[in-house]
Amino acid sequence: MISGTLAGSNYDAWYTCFVQPKPIASRVRDLNPSPTLAITARAATMRASGLDVISFAAGEPDFRTPLPIIEAAHEAMLAGFTKYTSGSGIMELREVVADKFRRENGIETSADRVVITCGAKHALVNAILTLVEPGDEVIIIAPYWMSYSEQVMLAGGIPVLVQCTPESGFVPDPQEVAAAVTPKTKAMMICSPNNPTGAVWPKQVIQEIAQIASTNGIWLISDEVYEKLIYEGVHYSPAGLDPEFADCTITIGSCSKTFAMTGWRIGYMTGPKHVMTKIACTQDTISHPTSFAQKAAIKAFEMGDSFIQEVLPEFRTRRDLMHSLVNQIPGVSASLPQGAFYVMANVSNLLSGKCSTVDELAEILLQEAHVALIPGSVFSAKGFLRLSYATNREQIERGIGRMNEALQRLTV
Ligand code: PMP
Ligand code: GLU
Repeated sequence: MISGTLAGSNYDAWYTCFVQPKPIASRVRDLNPSPTLAITARAATMRASGLDVISFAAGEPDFRTPLPIIEAAHEAMLAGFTKYTSGSGIMELREVVADKFRRENGIETSADRVVITCGAKHALVNAILTLVEPGDEVIIIAPYWMSYSEQVMLAGGIPVLVQCTPESGFVPDPQEVAAAVTPKTKAMMICSPNNPTGAVWPKQVIQEIAQIASTNGIWLISDEVYEKLIYEGVHYSPAGLDPEFADCTITIGSCSKTFAMTGWRIGYMTGPKHVMTKIACTQDTISHPTSFAQKAAIKAFEMGDSFIQEVLPEFRTRRDLMHSLVNQIPGVSASLPQGAFYVMANVSNLLSGKCSTVDELAEILLQEAHVALIPGSVFSAKGFLRLSYATNREQIERGIGRMNEALQRLTV
């Protein structure tokens, strides 16, 4: 015990009566750090220490944000647009997004039903916190972007996984989705084009899933952040297919992938008026996106598809390259993804006594081959590794080469 005098008084008592603060909230006790962000950060740290690490971990375009977008932010800052904005985002951007939803997604909405968020991740949390009560079940179609289950747990909800198989091209079977519905089901989270599988779900499947939600009075949270990254197939927004579906659907998009703006943190969402009004209140308790990033987003939407049209052929070439190289690794196979920028490599044939899980395999590849990628286990895809091809062709060739050599060493 430390004792002494402070301004003439004895302060022993402060120490002797110290007790541990009460435990953290149970709803966060089981939360985990985001593995995609954690592995990406580890790769960056290794690189900073001088190692030549090739990263297939991060799901973010390596392209720079287009210059006119950067200039728009700069101009906004110089013009003094550096203050708080309204909680749901600036009206001008909300109008632009409402117009985009109407024109491109067929969703009948208006600016007062649009909330601009700090990325789609924030939009997803807004939706979950607004809709899910402790004990509510939320159906998640797996493999899934791992943050969904953490977000559901943050609200005290229970994630219920409906697993898609590689044999079905990672497209869900609506009958299995229907079978997972219980009286406790409050919402369903879907993502097409999909992270991590790259699957683009057919219209019929989206329609049937939306019908299940609508018929059972379940909220459908549709994560459409990869809507523009499609090589085969067409993107359908469930809320655009039928006004009935729009009544139970929250549609979420982002500037992150479409305009190479991951760090700007601009996402957006729309849904029925009564729920968007409350989502606006949820967001008011958290934060709104940066003022000048919102101005930049207006510029991004004004540019339309020009940037994505420019980079899509390059993404396609990278996809084909990575898919072909991965399939040349003995014992490894991958189907051709139709969208997003991930290849799912099936490595289940390589798992043995020496290395029995994809987590161990991903760790070995990082430590020994200096290739960072994400073990499928985090997405509920055991036996798979997720490789992002949002990196240049030279890195893809070298990285897969190293991976091949390391896997050969492991299997002899
Ligand atoms: N949804 C999916 C499926 C994602 O992969 C990501 C991250 N890349 C997000 C949402 C979040 O994107 P952001 O917050 O950058 O808009
Ligand atoms: N969504 C990105 C990915 O799947 C990472 C960003 C994040 O986890 O927030 O790699």
